Amino acid sequence: MKTKSSSWSVAQSDDLYGFKRWGNGHLSVDDDGFVAMQPLTDGRSVRIVDVVNEARSMGLKAPMVIRFQDLLRHRVIQLNELFNKAIKEEGYKGSYRGVFPIKVNQLREVVDEIVAAGKDYNYGLEAGSKPELMIALAMHEGSQRLIICNGYKDNDYIRLALLGRKLGKKIILVVEQLSELDEIIRLSAETGVKPLIGFRAKLQTRGEGKWALSSGENAKFGLNTAEILFAIEKLRAAKLTQSLRLVHFHIGSQVPNILTIKNAVVEASRVYCQLAKMGFPMGYLDVGGGLGIDYDGSRTNFESSMNYSMEEYARDVVFNIREICNSMDVEVPDIVSESGRAIVAPHSLLVVEVFERINKRESLGQQHQPEEKHKVVQDLETLLRNKTKLGRLERFHDALQKKDEAFSLFNLGYLDLENRAAAESLFWQICEQIAKEGRKAGYQPEELHELDTLLADQYVCNFSVFQSLLDHWALKQLFPIAPLHRLNEKPTVNAILVDITCDSDGKIASFIDLQDVKDYITLHPLNKQPYYLGIFLTGAYQDIMGDLHNLFGRVNEVHVFLEDDEPNGFYIEEALSGSRIADVIEGVQYQQEDLCRKMKAQIDAATKKDMVKPREGVRLLELYESQMLNKTYLNIEKKAAKAKRSH
Ligand SMILES: *Cc1c(COP(=O)(O)O)cnc(C)c1O
Repeated sequence: MKTKSSSWSVAQSDDLYGFKRWGNGHLSVDDDGFVAMQPLTDGRSVRIVDVVNEARSMGLKAPMVIRFQDLLRHRVIQLNELFNKAIKEEGYKGSYRGVFPIKVNQLREVVDEIVAAGKDYNYGLEAGSKPELMIALAMHEGSQRLIICNGYKDNDYIRLALLGRKLGKKIILVVEQLSELDEIIRLSAETGVKPLIGFRAKLQTRGEGKWALSSGENAKFGLNTAEILFAIEKLRAAKLTQSLRLVHFHIGSQVPNILTIKNAVVEASRVYCQLAKMGFPMGYLDVGGGLGIDYDGSRTNFESSMNYSMEEYARDVVFNIREICNSMDVEVPDIVSESGRAIVAPHSLLVVEVFERINKRESLGQQHQPEEKHKVVQDLETLLRNKTKLGRLERFHDALQKKDEAFSLFNLGYLDLENRAAAESLFWQICEQIAKEGRKAGYQPEELHELDTLLADQYVCNFSVFQSLLDHWALKQLFPIAPLHRLNEKPTVNAILVDITCDSDGKIASFIDLQDVKDYITLHPLNKQPYYLGIFLTGAYQDIMGDLHNLFGRVNEVHVFLEDDEPNGFYIEEALSGSRIADVIEGVQYQQEDLCRKMKAQIDAATKKDMVKPREGVRLLELYESQMLNKTYLNIEKKAAKAKRSH
């Protein structure tokens, strides 16, 4: 096996980017330095760059989303199997009846795969809005699988749910607001359909982390204790006591701490038992979502992580419900959970291509020597030569101070452009010198850590944070990021990632780390071939939250399946082409034809005035018109990266 740099091994890359820590056994680096995906962790693996190249040969370039459909299926099976295992081992008398919350990824191929994978487990669907309920009703199969209806409900929403009841579906309307119950009672009388009803309880137990606001007294949803008692009276008055079947809670997504989950389960189990003791039929306890993803692989209760596994989650839920029910002498319920993030986050990744490196020092070379050096420039030169043998920290602070001084002098008119350029250049040289000394010494004082951040380059990537990674922008959520190839080479460039929107927020400047958060990522220098980065664990929420900032729109997308008979071991079943320019501009109410007509009129007028020649005019119009059908993202023309197999 060849490795390009003997001082670097693929194992070091594996450790640096943390595939083993956050990849859940699905990701590894092969001997040739490529990232390989094992959708089923059964030994069969697919090089992600092979998928990128295959998509390229179909005309689809990065940025693109790659979905591993087998991994999606794997997660559904895993969650159900782990609940079943916990139920068996704890001697629990009820069953697990999970549902997938459609809002976490509504794409048909995703929901389709999940419904198919959940067939043997009676795995159902959860809807939080009318459009989602429309999907759930049609896609749902079987009479044992649940449909849970959450979210604010108008009469049409309730009517749709009652329609599902008529078809024999186990569809449960979860009451989020007291007023909804009045309408459910009225419409059930009107249609003669007996509803199945759940109460969403506002728990005292609060979530933790970025998504904690779904719980506590000020939560948007749910009934407080008094409201639950009112609701009970209403059900009794309407003679619908037989309809109450479920208690539901949801304390927020990505719960990092297992203790929070335990506390919420205990509190909700108490509510459940109280209602059961009042004589309601009950039967289901719904523990909502919140099952986390260990985005940074630290396995801690940090907000990007979780201090428990899926197996521990299932066991804790089962165990605590049983304990409370036993202590209150109530029959245990079937357990419903609404895990979305944990089911779909791992199955897809975003591939982006880095096409430019911006080094803010490069352009600040020595070429601009001022004719008369200002005192501040001379001072910086002295610092750079370091004749006085100052320590690193002192020199850094002095340099910062002199640079600020230079800018003030410039603003006051005392420094010319040449001197300002020289001051900037010297400042960066000093920074680099100090950083180098620190690396040599093998130790950098805490106060100098920001130096590496300051010196980091910018890698410009062909994508939009606002379309493809909205939670990073909105919530500072971290996602693991790594090169998809060249992992047998030592990465040497510290960089932050910037996207192609003209928004200064369109960047990634915080990265996963075992301790806290890192301000840069270490990557390979660019060469003549494409350089691809994978942004992993993006299958939950990101696809649909994305917006049209700068009108970039949807990225290309391929759906990959494992294939035993194929040499590469995979095939692309579905390829979805990203937005074309015409698509996005029509989305904001322009008509393609109208814009072309307007351009033609202007070109004709310019031709008449002899500003352009007639033939040139024709060409200009052709250029404009043909762009309409092109993709919105940059069309980068590097040759495909080689992905030769050595075995
Ligand atoms: C969003 C949501 C979920 C999904 O939560 P995850 O943390 O993604 O599993 C489940 N239930 C309800 C009511 C939700 O609003």
